[in-house]
Amino acid sequence: MNNNQLMWFRRDLRAVDNAALYHALKAAAVAGSRAHCVFVFDDTILKHLPKQDRRITFIWDSLLALDTTLKALGSAGLHVVHGNPLVLIPTLAQQLGVRQVHTNHDDEPQAQARDAAVGQALQAQGRALATYKDHVIFERSEVMSQQGKRYSVFTPYKNMWLKTLTPFYTQAYATEPYAHALDDSAAPAPWPSLASMGFDEHCRMLTPAGETGAQQLLSDFLSRMGQYHATRDFPAVKGPSYLSVHLRFGTVSIRQLVREALAQQHTEGGKVWLSELIWRDFYHQIMHHHPQAMGAAFKPEYQAIEWEQGAKADDRFAAWCEGRTGYPLVDAAQRQLNQTGYMHNRLRMVSACFLIKDLGIDWRRGEAYFATHLNDFDLAANNGGWQWAASSGCDAQPYFRIFNPITQSEKFDAHGKFIRRYVPELAALSDKHIHAPWLTEPLVLKAAGITLGAQTSTYPLPIIDHAQARQATLERYAVVKKTAASAVS
Ligand code: FAD
Repeated sequence: MNNNQLMWFRRDLRAVDNAALYHALKAAAVAGSRAHCVFVFDDTILKHLPKQDRRITFIWDSLLALDTTLKALGSAGLHVVHGNPLVLIPTLAQQLGVRQVHTNHDDEPQAQARDAAVGQALQAQGRALATYKDHVIFERSEVMSQQGKRYSVFTPYKNMWLKTLTPFYTQAYATEPYAHALDDSAAPAPWPSLASMGFDEHCRMLTPAGETGAQQLLSDFLSRMGQYHATRDFPAVKGPSYLSVHLRFGTVSIRQLVREALAQQHTEGGKVWLSELIWRDFYHQIMHHHPQAMGAAFKPEYQAIEWEQGAKADDRFAAWCEGRTGYPLVDAAQRQLNQTGYMHNRLRMVSACFLIKDLGIDWRRGEAYFATHLNDFDLAANNGGWQWAASSGCDAQPYFRIFNPITQSEKFDAHGKFIRRYVPELAALSDKHIHAPWLTEPLVLKAAGITLGAQTSTYPLPIIDHAQARQATLERYAVVKKTAASAVS
């Protein structure tokens, strides 16, 4: 074995400002050895994904871009392999004479188990696995209260996060000065194709991939950031950054984004956007400290809730998934998700709330649907969002707060612009009528070419009455108070 180093890319598909890459290159430069780079298409994850999955093509395109960058820096190229990393990483490390494998932290419970197993396998060969924080600004127990307690409420966490922040934490890892240590001799074996791994290579996101794609979106957002607070809630407006998929796959550095947000702290928008980035850290530390909340209510008393089950609930769940609930904003939201893999934050809240508190369906079913369909699916943020909506989360909305899907629609899509984009069958309705077509006079509907109903109709009637559903939810959630009271007495 010689002193070579191996950089294992995962949710950090960039060459710039990458903690593990920096350490791999530096270790090789210091030892006078070579640094190799690898990405594993992990079959234990891929086998559960649909054939048409935009995230896989996004990864693929980002890997092509990463490979080009690494080659421009002097590398012979990125190794890309397909299979079980538990086998593939030790095998490659052996073939390449690697002393140490470097990789960035992934705090999802399954990833933690995988990394522990890979670490053990490497250790058995006399090699080491070195891991680093890269994905967030503060991880695990880095932000704790003055009494050394972990936070489960956002605002005090955020205050301490801001207090702890120094320029050190947002400084970039300069990889270029050590790029000469990249291996330029061992040309990687040909990559497995998307088709050979069982994926449709034509299924693409609208979002441009790779580091360049992220920088394009960022430069577009920088001039809008100052207005973020005023625009972010309106799905028909280009308000947010659309950077979530890049943050998910690490094609952009969180440190760069926080530096940009800090540069705009004199604006209200800059402050609010920084807060959103802190929510991301917050949910990641919640996942680290409370892995059990990734499959169950964070507040245990909410486990007592009995959700709707059976054929009727299944039909309603299917209607929600497919965007045919009869509530135009909810349907537009779900269709945006199905057609693009993105859903606007306001709509994630509205749609999640509708599934849980109008349809009475277990939030975990919605969470799982989002997990399969969201381009930016991130276990910590998705679980946090769903438990916020279900009121069972660490810092969630109170259980009696039940979004009214009509008033949400009137408020956040007042002119029905977003609805018209995704529910074109209602396009001819006026701004006033488009939010609740069933309340519209039959003559107006007829003039707009709309028939409401089940079979031969152009658009469904509401699958549930909101006022009745609201009442049923308050009754359903009453068990929470009882369970909490009996736990105290
Ligand atoms: P921007 O508004 O530009 O925000 C910038 C970044 O801040 C985002 O890219 C994201 O990384 C982070 N961020 C913003 N809001 C939140 C939040 N509430 N929690 C954590 N991080 C946040 N976000 C995901 O990244 N992945 C998910 O799987 C996910 N699932 C969600 C499910 C539900 C039910 C809800 C209510 C929210 C969910 N979110 C999730 C949070 C949020 O909706 C998205 O991060 C945001 O819509 C992404 O769009 P953007 O990049 O334009 O965000």
